[in-house]
Amino acid sequence: MRLSRYFLPTLKENPAEAQIASHRLMLRAGMIRQGAAGIYSWLPMGLKVLKNIEQIVREEQDAAGAQELLMPTIQSADLWVESGRYDDYGKEMLRIEDRHGRQMLYGPTNEELITDIFRKEVRSYRDLPKNLYHIQWKFRDEIRPRFGVMRGREFLMKDAYSFDLTAEAGKASYNAMFVAYLRTFARLGLKAIPMRADTGPIGGDLSHEFIVLADTGESEVFFDKAFDALDPMIEVDEGADLQPIVDAWTSHYAATDEIHDAENCPVDSAELITGRGIEVGHIFFFGDKYSKPMNAVVQGPEGETTPVQMGSYGVGVSRLVGAIIEACHDENGIVWPESVAPFKVGLLNLRTKDDECTAACDKMYADLKAAGIDVLYDDTNDGAGAKFANMDLIGLPWQLAVGPRGLKNGVVELKNRKTGERVELAPEEAVAKLSA
Ligand code: ATP
Ligand code: MG
Repeated sequence: MRLSRYFLPTLKENPAEAQIASHRLMLRAGMIRQGAAGIYSWLPMGLKVLKNIEQIVREEQDAAGAQELLMPTIQSADLWVESGRYDDYGKEMLRIEDRHGRQMLYGPTNEELITDIFRKEVRSYRDLPKNLYHIQWKFRDEIRPRFGVMRGREFLMKDAYSFDLTAEAGKASYNAMFVAYLRTFARLGLKAIPMRADTGPIGGDLSHEFIVLADTGESEVFFDKAFDALDPMIEVDEGADLQPIVDAWTSHYAATDEIHDAENCPVDSAELITGRGIEVGHIFFFGDKYSKPMNAVVQGPEGETTPVQMGSYGVGVSRLVGAIIEACHDENGIVWPESVAPFKVGLLNLRTKDDECTAACDKMYADLKAAGIDVLYDDTNDGAGAKFANMDLIGLPWQLAVGPRGLKNGVVELKNRKTGERVELAPEEAVAKLSA
């Protein structure tokens, strides 16, 4: 992509409304614009990052055996009356009346709708287990939307729902999601710690929140430093029992301020790390909480009918964009992990007026594209200083600077955004290095 043609409205100044780094940087880097409180448009570069995150979440869900579908954003209130949650959900739910006077709502979550789909189609235990997920916009009329996409009113969530015959099988489904979440957050360049959680309005008795450490996080967290030694990139063999892995992760103490009790904390204070964190995922096993009132039953092996055992598993996809920036930035801007970066490399033409320099840049641009590398080519007439500052702000993993002086010696400069390390290379070597 040529920067001269790209819709990337960056800001030089810090916007006054932004209190935390990720919100400030997303506005400055031209990723989002606010439409109404807690409701954002995703501009091209922001959308690219959102899609990259979505794709990693999707790949790990698929690998864990979940199947993608897509449910609508607007739901009928009837199902929520049936489950008993229509009144409980309160003011966070955006309620809508259609032209025929029917009560509708913009879905804040999808337990009811997926349970309805399931009960109409699945009759026998032979069709179990099933795990169905979608990646869809949600609306919650948060009392205090803030921090940009971190606590929005409209936000993108991946939500999966598992269906099993027995509680034991349901726990195995829960474990599969637990491990998929560890892998997902690791691939996104994040260190996420699973913490035992309150189950809140979703209900049930087994639940973990996945929390990313960041000073601006909304919750205070306490965890054993033993987590440092655990590797989240777990290789899963099909059908393997994941309980030992889940046990290894849950045997160490980790809790948010909601349940932490300093008096009775089992971890020695020397081993206990205290910090702040951002909730990026939340998983629940809640048994028959919805299947019972909504009569989602299957016939078991002895011919008896039983309500299915369910779990639900959320990832805050749009919140993750902010969470990754909170974890990955410096005083000059964003530092994207390669796995989610909007472009892999920024190509800077330091002297557009110089024909030789421009010809060399055009060639590198074509070569990089031919090598399948996603490149943002700064072919504008801005000065070199402004170009470097802009590239640092938008945080692409690599910067390739091309100027007349280097070209005279046959070299260009490749900079790693994260380490700041610079090397001079021949243009072909730079392309080869980036393709490797
Ligand atoms: P929170 O305690 O932050 O309000 P929650 O417990 O209400 O979260 P869940 O219902 O478990 O959230 O939703 C699953 C995930 O969706 C959360 O882990 C979070 O990452 C994300 N999420 C929830 N509310 C918002 C929001 N208002 N804006 C952006 N992401 C959100
Ligand atoms: Mg909430």
